[in-house]
Amino acid sequence: MNVNRHLKELSGSSQRIPTEQSFHHFYLNFNEFKRPIDEIDRRSQSMLESIGATTHAWNTGVDFPSDIDDAYEWVVDMNDELLEWFNESVSEVRKAREDEEFEELELENGLGLVRVKKERAVVGNKKVEATETTKPKVSFHLATVRKPQDVYDIVVNNANVPFEHIWLEKSEDGQRFIHPLEKYSYLEFVDKNIEYLVPMKPPAMECTPFKLVEDVKGLKELAAKLRAADEFAVDLEHNQYRSFQGLTCLMQISTRTEDFIVDTLKLRVHVGPYLREVFKDATKKKVFHGADRDIVWLQRDFGIYVCNMFDTGQASRVLKLERFSLQYLLQHFCGVTANKEYQNADWRQRPLPDVMIRYGREDTHYLLYIFDQLRIKLFALSKESKSSENPLVEVYKRSYDVCMQLYEKELLTADSYLRIYGLLGAGFNAQQLAAVSGLNEWRDVLARSEDESTGFVLPNKLLLEIAKQMPVTISGLRRLTSSKLPYVDHNLDVIVNIVRHAIQNAAPFEEVALRLKEEYAAKMKEAQEARLKAIQEGSVVDAAPVEDGVEDSSHLLDFEHTPEESAVMDNSTRVNISERPPFFSDPKDDCSQHEDMNGLVNLQVLVEPIDAIGEALPGNKVKDEIKLDQIRMSVKLEPVSAAASADTMMIDSSIDSGCMIQSNLLGSK
Ligand code: AMP
Ligand code: MN
Ligand code: ZN
Repeated sequence: MNVNRHLKELSGSSQRIPTEQSFHHFYLNFNEFKRPIDEIDRRSQSMLESIGATTHAWNTGVDFPSDIDDAYEWVVDMNDELLEWFNESVSEVRKAREDEEFEELELENGLGLVRVKKERAVVGNKKVEATETTKPKVSFHLATVRKPQDVYDIVVNNANVPFEHIWLEKSEDGQRFIHPLEKYSYLEFVDKNIEYLVPMKPPAMECTPFKLVEDVKGLKELAAKLRAADEFAVDLEHNQYRSFQGLTCLMQISTRTEDFIVDTLKLRVHVGPYLREVFKDATKKKVFHGADRDIVWLQRDFGIYVCNMFDTGQASRVLKLERFSLQYLLQHFCGVTANKEYQNADWRQRPLPDVMIRYGREDTHYLLYIFDQLRIKLFALSKESKSSENPLVEVYKRSYDVCMQLYEKELLTADSYLRIYGLLGAGFNAQQLAAVSGLNEWRDVLARSEDESTGFVLPNKLLLEIAKQMPVTISGLRRLTSSKLPYVDHNLDVIVNIVRHAIQNAAPFEEVALRLKEEYAAKMKEAQEARLKAIQEGSVVDAAPVEDGVEDSSHLLDFEHTPEESAVMDNSTRVNISERPPFFSDPKDDCSQHEDMNGLVNLQVLVEPIDAIGEALPGNKVKDEIKLDQIRMSVKLEPVSAAASADTMMIDSSIDSGCMIQSNLLGSK
């Protein structure tokens, strides 16, 4: 590229020019200096002219300035722009290539980066391209959606103070909230007479009455139906990208005979008053799949506290099924191939497209039937096993613990910034840490007041990049950002000032920088030792040395192959789940397609930490897998709740891993 070469030459020659004060002195008094300077001037002029001659190609609408200073500005700006274009093009190309193997969705604050790997499945001896069965990508964020906070006057308290569980009583000393479950023992919820239980298949979705609940009247009718039911299945859809704490967008409920979807954005303030009671009613069984987050979302948004819950995700674990996902259960027990592409869709959109309604219904429609089958299996297992452990009781115990969790608001503290994912391995000095701290505080305050996620205001990846580069000019900062981040765009000057301020006020961070380095070194050592041990034990074939970059891979928790799971993969302990699934998909569906799809696509989802919003991970997948093993071996996961083991759900596993890496710095949460 001609222009690029000229720009290079221009900036190269400019470095040979002395600083301003001495310049005039030299220029006026020494011919040896004046001559080359004149020559530089001539060449610069000619370069600028040749650059200027290309302005039409830049399409900037700004003509090339005749004044030398303005021209210089123009070139700098153009240079920035060029670099940005170049970056964008490179990442487009890179991404296109990656897309052959990966689908990537970036969801920040609450979600980290989600990578969905399309594996090639093997059918018979044939490898089948997963792309044949995976659907086009669904966007997790529709910029055109009007904020439901504005549309429905949703008021939230994002103040930097702990969440008040106003619907709960407090202990006598006023120190803690009392969950209504406390007056029960999980043993009270364990089903009796399972030996006579006959699984009850739901009617096909097309034959099932369905109600989209969008008004108070509908909500009232739903509440009445639930009061008449002994059990119902529940699931929620949520958005965490465009609000500080997250918003529950939908509540799906299925009874044995009907499906409901409640528009919880529109009916936000009415949901609690109508449904609080049935959720709390301990005589009614509530069935969820992977309820950890649902439980706290219900508390946060509706003041709903759940008593008597059965978590089919926990049951899958206790049964040591091959997979713990709902997708697997649907396939295995119902012969239904769930289309999970809408899992990360933007659930705030209204009206909801039919496909998304259908997806939402699928999440609860079959759940009571799965619940039946799981209970039967758990019961059978207790008969088989000689030990006194009762797997069904164990599921209720875990589900009880999941319900007992209490929602906690994310609070900003002086050392919150230390939890930013990837910081530990970044090797930052005091100035850079000061910048991280300042940027973190800035985005936190803004996110709270605008009710946005911190990831939407300033993604972690960019935050760390800014701290890495420490740009002190707006054009320098622009070079790091793409213009898709409105809060960054509108605050370039503020951000630059934070960086400048950090440079001036870094002293208090010297000690932290040291501590981080030590901690990182210790982590690496630990990982290396664990790895060596694994090699000695023969469980790792590849003996590649540990490379630095714990932060690069630790977030890649492959939730479908967790340590817990692999530890139980030996056949002696594994439950036999090999019978054919009953086939009862909808009549309109193409049956042969279902058969083809049975076990065909293996979606492996790698998820980054939740509040430690992760950064994109370039690089070698195999190496990542290896590092993953190292991390798993070297770090103990800190479960959200006793029952919610680290891999309860993909997201939950990521929360744990996100916090754990830096937990030593903060003390345990
Ligand atoms: P689910 O229980 O699978 O219906 O998920 C409930 C909500 O959790 C979704 O509406 C998403 O907001 C979020 N979620 C679940 N799985 C993922 C994922 N893999 N990546 C991002 N968000 C997810
Ligand atoms: Mn769910
Ligand atoms: Zn769902």
